Amino acid sequence: MAAYPEYPPDQNDEQQDYLLTSLKDWSIAHGLAVRPTTAYVSAETDPSGALATTAPVTLFPSLFPRVCFEQAKSVAQDYNELYSAIASDEEWLKQTVEELVDIDDFIAQLWKIHLAVKQEGYVQVTFTRPIQILDLIMIEPLNLGLFRSDYMVHTDPANAQSRPCVKQVEFNTIASSFGGLSTQVSALHKYLLTVGAYPETLSSIISDAALPESTSVPGLALGMAKAHEAYGSSKNGLPTCVIFLVQDPERNVFDQRHVEYALNRNYGVKTFRLPFGRVLDDTKLDADRKLIYSPPHTPSKQFEVTLVYFRAGYSPAEYQSQRDWDGRLQIERSAAIKCPSILTQLAGTKKVQQVLATPHSPHLKRFLPNEARAAAVLKTFAPIYPMDKSEAGQEARKLAQDPETAVRYVLKPQREGGGNNVYRKAIPQFLKETPETHWPAHILMEMIEPPAQSNVIFRNGELQKGGVICELGVYGACLWRDEDGKGKRKILENFEAGYLLRTKGSGSEEGGVAVSSYDEYLSYQDAADGIPGRFRLGRFCVSN
Ligand code: ADP
Ligand code: MG
Repeated sequence: MAAYPEYPPDQNDEQQDYLLTSLKDWSIAHGLAVRPTTAYVSAETDPSGALATTAPVTLFPSLFPRVCFEQAKSVAQDYNELYSAIASDEEWLKQTVEELVDIDDFIAQLWKIHLAVKQEGYVQVTFTRPIQILDLIMIEPLNLGLFRSDYMVHTDPANAQSRPCVKQVEFNTIASSFGGLSTQVSALHKYLLTVGAYPETLSSIISDAALPESTSVPGLALGMAKAHEAYGSSKNGLPTCVIFLVQDPERNVFDQRHVEYALNRNYGVKTFRLPFGRVLDDTKLDADRKLIYSPPHTPSKQFEVTLVYFRAGYSPAEYQSQRDWDGRLQIERSAAIKCPSILTQLAGTKKVQQVLATPHSPHLKRFLPNEARAAAVLKTFAPIYPMDKSEAGQEARKLAQDPETAVRYVLKPQREGGGNNVYRKAIPQFLKETPETHWPAHILMEMIEPPAQSNVIFRNGELQKGGVICELGVYGACLWRDEDGKGKRKILENFEAGYLLRTKGSGSEEGGVAVSSYDEYLSYQDAADGIPGRFRLGRFCVSN
């Protein structure tokens, strides 16, 4: 029995035209848009980069069991607590990171920056703590995490009656994208429902109650506003601002703009976009290591930066020269709140996810002392193994090298942003070509096999119909103050911040099915980069 019903329906030309016209107009009118690829709109056609196109979206909301949606949301605050605890526990992180520094240059560089700043001393707005009759001036850095925990629906293949649940794909602590567009996609599908763009026959499936709003734009903006407020005003009387540290060029700019505009509009916070490569050009540290920003369009003006929100800096390719590393160091040394700090970024490595999720791992308890909450988080882990020489690592090495067992796994290095993993039958060959000393830079994860479903994707002006796989991301915002650098911290804000549903063509490897060519892989990248799909909830609970 199929887990999901026949979906989406066939439509005649007039029905499809109406749906598509409604979708295209609404998307552009509401900024559900991306800058086009040059393959779609050539540089000669758009020499000034003025054009935008609808972000790739599904025509119909994708299906997702309500019970799974609720489960993923229910652990959002626990994940905030867990990862803020890990990021505050430098001693624990050090053990994990040190296993990587000799074999992963990128991680080694990040760690080096952290150590340099640690030696000098992290700075932050000083904070007066009344202890007995003395007022002690403490330096307790503030940290902001805008996280996204990604999940797929898992059903037990051995038990057809089992309820579906979510299993975590990964946990993102840096540059979690699509929070801006996700709110728009959820609104788009609601709009299409209200204007009758979906056939009557679907009324029992696509209903208003089955289309929950995603609050990711207000949620992420609130997280930033709280950090900005906690930093306080400039002691030197400068105006303050939040920096969006971005890649340049950036096709997904409107995703970021939605959050930025909400921050301006709802909280009156001044924001600037700073390209990653320009940190040393446009910022400097004052004597107290406050981060001072001068916009290139008005270089005589100075702003004190309260928060640096990273939408860049997560991939080695972005660090093209020592100057880029020096820029990263400058931000880390500064008093500005980093979202994320280097430690928070490192807490989000796949290695940390593996250390927590390796069967019988004792580590979760350390960070989440509440047993019930730890159990709820544990339920979302899929089995993940190290590729080192430990007992679990030896077992994993066997599974990964044997072509018969390797097909159930994905091998991941410590990278973000897509395009780095090795899937299923490609794993044994990859290991043959990789020196054994480098194997521990990877983790081996069981593939999650979500139920099959179909949808129609509108992308680059074309319709693509076929099998899709859905990945749910739940955003979380967490603001905390480190108290001793050894794991003690005070959480000031901890809330869920909306969700994202991405729908990927299942004909690609990262979607979960075999792929062989690089071209196909690239086409996945494009699709994944712009398909905040949308889902309905409820009646298609697989257990029904
Ligand atoms: P990245 O940091 O590059 O985003 P991910 O761990 O999210 O790395 O992997 C990229 C994609 O690969 C995911 O979006 C998902 O489609 C697929 N994938 C990763 N891990 C699994 C898994 N265990 N089961 C099924 N698909 C997976
Ligand atoms: Mg991912």
